[in-house]
Amino acid sequence: MSRIAYVNGRYVRHAEAAVHIEDRGYQFADGVYEVCEVWHGKIVDERRHCDRLERSLRELSIRMPMTRAALSQVMREVLRRNRVRSGFVYLQVTRGVARRDHYFPSPDTPPALVVTARNVAPETGDKAAEAGVGVITVPENRWDRVDIKTVGLLPNVLAKQKAKEAGAKEAWFVDANGYVTEGGSTNAWIVTKDNTLVTRPAEHGILKGITRQVVLDMIARNGLSFDERPFTVDEAKQAKEAFITAASTLVMPVVRIDDAAIGNGHPGELSRELRQQFHEVSELEPV
Ligand code: PLP
Repeated sequence: MSRIAYVNGRYVRHAEAAVHIEDRGYQFADGVYEVCEVWHGKIVDERRHCDRLERSLRELSIRMPMTRAALSQVMREVLRRNRVRSGFVYLQVTRGVARRDHYFPSPDTPPALVVTARNVAPETGDKAAEAGVGVITVPENRWDRVDIKTVGLLPNVLAKQKAKEAGAKEAWFVDANGYVTEGGSTNAWIVTKDNTLVTRPAEHGILKGITRQVVLDMIARNGLSFDERPFTVDEAKQAKEAFITAASTLVMPVVRIDDAAIGNGHPGELSRELRQQFHEVSELEPV
């Protein structure tokens, strides 16, 4: 069975799916994206991901390419055509196709929409979570609108490649004051020695992760102790536990930061429990 992608109104074979060379996503990274997990035939937190997509588009003055209801249908059709039960659905919207010019194209230029999906067994992430992952730290060098989920990810790409070359999974950006902002594609968390969960406020300097929000819901549900504040690399290295969150990783325990083992060097109890509870608290919508 060949993979199928949705590209600007058509369902096409993934291997042949293409956008125009003058697409502004290609020319200027002038676009945004979303990734939703799909779990046993359910789309995870679709409402919140689509809310964020609309917000990202609004911040950049790009129109929604279609209504939310239509978008939801396209996502489902792509998932069905690819027979995805568990994995991911990816949406990308750009300002459309126009002759290369920094100024916005004329307002009647339709935004471009691509939707793809792929199968990934849930056990893949679960296995990684049993061992936990390593992170490295790198200086923050991104623009100050990282709250918009744009496809302009070059600093993230370079940071994550550096992590990979160091045998780690993720890179944590560290701001000029020594505070961790977030990972290249994840939000960053620690658990202090007195079992308080700590993550940076999402007003500035990070993407307001949907998975982060689900963890906040789990914290409330379980009456856990929580402090929304920045933390330094040193504090993280001394922490009892650390973990990262994203739709692509869920709650993923961190067992090493640079060369420092976290806790006893194995995934922490709280991180493991939050991962286990995740799909009880996230919103699940049938494909
Ligand atoms: N931070 C960055 C930079 C990301 O790219 C992502 C996800 O791709 C996240 C955080 C986590 O966001 P979410 O939980 O919505 O997937």
